Amino acid sequence: MDRDTRKAHEMGVRALGAFSGGLDGMIAARILLDQGIEVELATFRSPFFSSADGRKAAGAMNLPWREVDFTDEIMKLLRDPPSGFGKNLNPCIDCHAAMFRMLGDLAREEGFDFIFSGEVLGQRPMSQNRNSLNRVANLSGYGRILLRPLSAGLLNETEPERKGLVDRERLLDISGRGRKRQMKLAAEYGLVYRNPGGGCLLTERDYSRRLEVLLRIPGLFTPRNAELIKHGRFFRLSEDTVCVIGRSEKDNKALESMVEDEVTYSLKNIPGPTGVLLGDASMLPEMVRLVRRYAGL
Ligand code: SF4
Repeated sequence: MDRDTRKAHEMGVRALGAFSGGLDGMIAARILLDQGIEVELATFRSPFFSSADGRKAAGAMNLPWREVDFTDEIMKLLRDPPSGFGKNLNPCIDCHAAMFRMLGDLAREEGFDFIFSGEVLGQRPMSQNRNSLNRVANLSGYGRILLRPLSAGLLNETEPERKGLVDRERLLDISGRGRKRQMKLAAEYGLVYRNPGGGCLLTERDYSRRLEVLLRIPGLFTPRNAELIKHGRFFRLSEDTVCVIGRSEKDNKALESMVEDEVTYSLKNIPGPTGVLLGDASMLPEMVRLVRRYAGL
């Protein structure tokens, strides 16, 4: 252990990281661990993204990990994101800012010295350019303690660097979309990583279109409906009613396992899809027609 590493260790410096489970976040955590900093990781979950990759990767690194339920925050943001949407229904700037706000609140409550992420300057042209990184930091309310170890050398100094809790000289200056330096570091650190699967559904065009319909119908924009519309075919039956019709046995099972008091319809003794109606129950005959059509009747 060198002198600075020992110092951080002796000072009991603690950092809480936003962690999706990708390579950049793993490297960010490793850089801080190498400085003797105690690291914990948090992965956000909502109907639009899962925490599974974060849990696995944190487990592989043997680091303390927690899931943070982000559902209420993202549902609120989707109704009116102050910074607007990306290409689809993805309010990335406000979403990131809200994540760091939650993380900062947790850090403050639990006595962490700072928060961090694996973001890389310029890796994503819209959401990770210098302006966006600064904007997210400012909007979060925790910009002064938000460290991005992979690009810190190219960014303004943060409080943990200024206070000597982190050695700025040993942070990196990576920018751009290339992954060469990260791959080299992964090999040096012996990090076993996978490209995270899943991703965020809000960046997918088809799902965003479905969700946008729910958003516009009073009462339908709920976390459970956001889950339901992931499965099968989606139809708008009227101004205020949609239905989802299973496309496969897997869809049917998923839909049946999720419904509570919605109107559903499936054929008795004949193989065919399950339909779930969201909205005006008097539109049932329309859904029945669709279920019969996809059953080949
Ligand atoms: S891709 Fe999805 S999870 Fe990531 S910042 Fe954008 S909206 Fe949030």
